[in-house]
Amino acid sequence: MSGAVSGFGMTSQRTRTRMIERLREQGIVDEEVLAAIAAVPRHVFVEEALASRAYEDTALPLGFSQTISQPYVVARMIEVLLAGRDELGKTLEIGAGCGYQAAVLAQLTDEVYAVERIAPLLAKAKANLRAIRQLKVRLKHADGQLGLPEAAPFATIIVAAAAAHVPRPLLQQLAPNGRLILPLGTGTQQLVLIERRAEGFVETRLDAVRFVPLLSGVE
Ligand code: SAH
Repeated sequence: MSGAVSGFGMTSQRTRTRMIERLREQGIVDEEVLAAIAAVPRHVFVEEALASRAYEDTALPLGFSQTISQPYVVARMIEVLLAGRDELGKTLEIGAGCGYQAAVLAQLTDEVYAVERIAPLLAKAKANLRAIRQLKVRLKHADGQLGLPEAAPFATIIVAAAAAHVPRPLLQQLAPNGRLILPLGTGTQQLVLIERRAEGFVETRLDAVRFVPLLSGVE
């Protein structure tokens, strides 16, 4: 990797190790999830001017009024998706942004599809994933509220923007025993896990969160 992304003191291995320690202190216990986060150089995904803050546990601006998700929330969502299961399986991410969470997901499963509605952000995600040589994420410019019918069904769906209600296509594209996690609500939001069981969809309400809104159409 070039000096431009690896040379900073602030982006050193020690800084990254510290971030993992903080996630543990906040209650993340799944070693596989912690290892996946440790393996992704978050500074590559943030604006150069913010690189020194890449390993703080905070959301950071991406441009286009969007933010790169907070590491704790990424870890928490993936931990919930994995709990009691062997693997994520075929995974769909809605709201790829700069590609950070997709890179973390790609550490945990071979099949990752990620959709983003803002074309220049999708281009950024593509460039960032290439920079870290992560080539298995399949990116698509689309309105994720419609899911990704051509690749459905998914064992896992993770939504990185808050919806007022669960988009029906996402439920339809969930495989049997599949899991969907999304922030729900306008104003105050809550993480909600939905599992597709033989008897129907089972919903579990989790932490209060703050995400940018899930919007319609593409730009
Ligand atoms: N996953 C990103 C977080 C990006 S923020 C990360 O790892 O940092 C949420 C993203 O969702 C934004 O880029 C926004 O443009 C996108 N988004 C919002 N509504 C969407 C929709 N309907 N379809 C696809 N992407 C959407």
